[in-house]
Amino acid sequence: MSETLTPVRPGKLIINGEAVDAASGKTYETYNPATESLITTVAEAGVEDVDRAVRAARAAFESGPWPKMKPAERGRILHKLGDLILQHADEIAHLETIDNGKPIFESRYIDIAMVSDCFHYFSGWATKLTGETNNVSPAFFTYTLREPLGVVGAIIPWNFPMIMVGWKAAPALAAGNCVVLKPAAETPLSAIRIGELAIEAGLPPGVFNVIPGRGSVAGEALVKHSMVDKISFTGSTEVGQHIMRTAADTVKKLTLELGGKSPNIVFADADLDAALRGAMNGIFYGKGEVCAAGSRLLVEQSIYDDFVAKLADAAKKRVPADPLHPKTRLGSLVNEKQMKSVLGYIEAGKAEGATVVAGGERQTVNGKGYFVQATVLAGVRNEMKVAQEEIFGPVLSVIPFSDLDDAVRQANDVFYGLASGVWTKDVKKAHIVARRLQAGTVYVNTYNYFDPAMPFGGYKGSGFGRDLGAACLSEYTQLKSVWLNLE
Ligand code: NAD
Repeated sequence: MSETLTPVRPGKLIINGEAVDAASGKTYETYNPATESLITTVAEAGVEDVDRAVRAARAAFESGPWPKMKPAERGRILHKLGDLILQHADEIAHLETIDNGKPIFESRYIDIAMVSDCFHYFSGWATKLTGETNNVSPAFFTYTLREPLGVVGAIIPWNFPMIMVGWKAAPALAAGNCVVLKPAAETPLSAIRIGELAIEAGLPPGVFNVIPGRGSVAGEALVKHSMVDKISFTGSTEVGQHIMRTAADTVKKLTLELGGKSPNIVFADADLDAALRGAMNGIFYGKGEVCAAGSRLLVEQSIYDDFVAKLADAAKKRVPADPLHPKTRLGSLVNEKQMKSVLGYIEAGKAEGATVVAGGERQTVNGKGYFVQATVLAGVRNEMKVAQEEIFGPVLSVIPFSDLDDAVRQANDVFYGLASGVWTKDVKKAHIVARRLQAGTVYVNTYNYFDPAMPFGGYKGSGFGRDLGAACLSEYTQLKSVWLNLE
């Protein structure tokens, strides 16, 4: 298995425009899940480092050059960061793949494009954030100012480490905030590299800080810190609920992007070849460690058996392989714990009566790695654990439905509401179902597309607030109403 482009430098904290060690001197090791080998060590942020980073961000927000800069200049710097990410695309994609286990094809051609697009797209918004004048009375001149919040704490998961930097930091910075970003302990390398590039792009010291560390220490300290105005979190529902409780003490604003168990509905009148490809990419892209994964495939009863057979054939061809090989389309899960959890769900599915028609087992590549085969579970009922809980791995639960009402009922009968898919040639049916689905995103005859211009976020247990799109800018700004007496 090809290992490294160049030796990976030990990761540092990025605080106040410098790469620094943790105050305690503590480091931890980060591993390549596909080879089980050590990549490098990373400085581990403790409470003191979080405090340093937050104070640096606060100072940058209160008195640094950032708030005095013209929005056009802020936009130029963010645009340059997008350019630098593209210039270092091979290096960052490589870091992402060895740290996370995802195929290099995805890191290099999907994730890099998304994160650089985020900086480019939101750089344009820096000059377009406006308040309004309000028609209250001839006696007053009234207007609103749209202002940044201050210090934004961004806490991100391990499944899309570099993309999440773009989703969180780009709009927050474009709106004039300063950011302290805590990557997941498992996958800190791409965020640290982007933090270094942010300095090169010209972001003033303290404006963008990166503090890898454990959630229970660094994450917790960030949420509790009184100088942090907002937490933008993407991760598990359980941690999101905990953050919500903790943030209540300091009345922090919150965006929570949580888990999903998204229904992908295939009607008998769909283009079934396209639906098959959509179902496969819906679950196996990103090894299924994707919040929006189409993990519940609802298939119309009349085509159920044939479609399951086709899915099984296709899944058997999606063989886990070396993530660094350009043709690989299924990589290693992020670590052993995640692999065991996914295998546990497959066992739970079997125990409840589901049939494994493809995959179902761990696999190694060259004797190593936490790979799980592309797995298809047939005969799943919507009330089963494998239909209700987020597995976060390459496991597809296939559920039959009888008609449109039944499809919508089952699709919505779940705690989550992140994404959903509909496959049909009937335009009217597609729009009716799109309106009835309780999900933040509905894909029609496609799946797993993301763009900085399209808002993304959850209904129900999948959280609240939106990443991306013009909509997310209101998550990083607040309105001030100004009344001027004209009499
Ligand atoms: P996680 O909740 O375990 O961790 C997410 C982040 O929170 C990490 O940086 C972690 O260190 C930190 N954290 C953990 N405990 C904390 C605490 N007490 N206080 C503050 N921070 C803490 O999630 P994960 O396992 O890294 O990621 C997988 C989850 O993320 C899945 O549930 C997935 O659906 C979700 N996710 C959601 C979206 C979305 O947009 N809705 C996108 C990607 C992933």
